[in-house]
Amino acid sequence: MNKHEPLILHEKSLDDVTEKVYGAGVSVSARRRVSGGDINDAYLISLSDGQKVFLKENSASNEDFFRAETEGLDAIAQTGAIGVPCPHAYGTCGGKSFLLMEYIGSAREARGFWEDFGHALSTLHMADTKPYTGTGRYGFIHDNYIGAGPQDNSVKDTWVDFFRECRILKQFERAKDMLPGEDAASIERLMSHLSDYIPEPDRPSLIHGDLWGGNFITGPHGQAMLIDPAVYVGSAEADIAMTQLFGGFAHAFYDSYKESGLIKPGYSDRRDIYNLYHMLNHVNLFGPMYLGSVHNLVSRY
Ligand code: ADP
Repeated sequence: MNKHEPLILHEKSLDDVTEKVYGAGVSVSARRRVSGGDINDAYLISLSDGQKVFLKENSASNEDFFRAETEGLDAIAQTGAIGVPCPHAYGTCGGKSFLLMEYIGSAREARGFWEDFGHALSTLHMADTKPYTGTGRYGFIHDNYIGAGPQDNSVKDTWVDFFRECRILKQFERAKDMLPGEDAASIERLMSHLSDYIPEPDRPSLIHGDLWGGNFITGPHGQAMLIDPAVYVGSAEADIAMTQLFGGFAHAFYDSYKESGLIKPGYSDRRDIYNLYHMLNHVNLFGPMYLGSVHNLVSRY
């Protein structure tokens, strides 16, 4: 399903990689660390032919992170709805795993940035989902990751079943030993009555899956571009809920997004249920300091 078919390479050094990807004799002339990520080491790479590219590195055993990220970027690119950096190659080199992609130079936000971002995201959410699950129903062709945590994308016919079994239950099983009994009981109750709380969407949507403020950047024409996806076919509302978990985007974003009609009445009552998935993932990845947030989300169930 790749338009540009990134290379999968296992080389001794990064210079071996750049030769294979960008041509004979093209090597690394400078490497500058980029901050902001929380999982990988990231670098702006200047090449001997004058190009700039973006490099992410992790331990060799985490090559699958980059397979999944590449697949997610390609899935979003395929819709044509919103920009993503183009992945060039991933694999291993110099004893590490890597992902090499297009470098997006920082630009000022264009006028109408948030309004355009809202429209672009709703266009993504209205794209045909058949290429991503075969049936177009909920899930994704392969499993991927939510942050550094595993994300099960087994395809299900209904959103409620998918969200219960592949999202909440998977995180709950891993977090259970850390959760106070009353919160564990609330989550079990919520799971068994989930269809009372979340409706089936009118249509399945390809969603970014991890859309907090650190996962978009401003592209060369001042427009929003998505990075670091945890894509799957789900409910559009789950993507919007994630944008509100750590503070929220600008009003203009929601105003223009809402024109799509993808946010249904009662959404604000469901938001915490969608975000419970991310908070449980935080407990599993970072430990008990997120238990209070989980308690706040589930105590009313
Ligand atoms: P991580 O996978 O560790 O979370 P990110 O993908 O978030 O890393 O990248 C770290 C930072 O690098 C981001 O916050 C963003 O500012 C910047 N960044 C990510 N992708 C690109 C890119 N293709 N071009 C330029 N900068 C990028």
